[in-house]
Amino acid sequence: MSALGWKNAPSASRLRLQAFLIAAGSKIAGRVPGRARTEPAVVEIPNLEIHAWHGCNLSCESCAHYSSLGVRGGPTAEMCESWMQLWAPRLRPRVFSIVGGEPTLNRHLARIVQSAASAWPHSEIRVVTNGFQLGRHPDLPLIMSKLRGRAFLEISSHHSSEDFRARFRPVRELAERWAEAGVDVRITPSDENWTRRYAMNGSQIEFLDGDPRAAWEACIGKKCPQIYLGMLWKCPPIAYLDLLPARIHVEPAWRTLAGSYRPLLADCSDADLAAFLCREEENVCRLCPSQLERFELPNPLVPTRRKSSSRRAPAKSAHSCQPDA
Ligand code: SF4
Ligand code: SF4
Repeated sequence: MSALGWKNAPSASRLRLQAFLIAAGSKIAGRVPGRARTEPAVVEIPNLEIHAWHGCNLSCESCAHYSSLGVRGGPTAEMCESWMQLWAPRLRPRVFSIVGGEPTLNRHLARIVQSAASAWPHSEIRVVTNGFQLGRHPDLPLIMSKLRGRAFLEISSHHSSEDFRARFRPVRELAERWAEAGVDVRITPSDENWTRRYAMNGSQIEFLDGDPRAAWEACIGKKCPQIYLGMLWKCPPIAYLDLLPARIHVEPAWRTLAGSYRPLLADCSDADLAAFLCREEENVCRLCPSQLERFELPNPLVPTRRKSSSRRAPAKSAHSCQPDA
């Protein structure tokens, strides 16, 4: 939307946007005394996320980041740093979240955490992990303990079965040691309230064709804007759809819809940034279902190829976004 594009917007959206621009302007004036009026606004937002890795070592059904579907690889530390540096002058997240995929699969995770803390010295730094590969990062506790008070490690426990809990025990033990070393560690049962984003029919991903407004209202992914490829994206399912491996079939109509989405460049105008952040439902929200549909998450230690989707896609269905890891 251009600087004046909101003239044609519905009145409620226009009012929200006007309020946002006024708030953004007053925040700049308050935080950067003497700053030239032509410099871009630094806008405070609740949360901003980056993938430190795209692939994952678990197979959570309906992972909102598609990481359970054979996605491989991830950005280098240099890529993450360049993306963060592009957005640090424009956005000030109250929480900056380093997620995935599984971020511990990036062997330079500690450096990425340090770089995020430097890029956003006033933000809380949150690292979200399933915990199984934390032991490969012996340099992380020192960095995170030095950041104590503004950085925490969120370890997601993904299943309550006997088998999973036995495999998760060493993660809990390591978490205790890191906590004793001064790291703020929080373990969360992320399989509780698990919800569906899409269904799998063999190797075909089936999106649930929700009503955009209803889907947006039900969704928690709207709280998770992503910086990826140097651009700002509305949410994980839109940002990472192109990472799906070729063996996962996506109907061309869904590809076209997702491809019509335009992420935001960091050199955008203040008005374009404000419009982006104020935008609610969009046509692309049809990818998501209109209502929350909770389901019991199958054990994510079992590879996807050894289990079928616990449910086939209905014509219309329910949903929400998943936790990050
Ligand atoms: S596409 Fe829309 S409804 Fe779906 S996760 Fe993103 S913001 Fe939410
Ligand atoms: S929800 Fe998290 S742990 Fe599970 S597959 Fe997705 S990224 Fe991995």
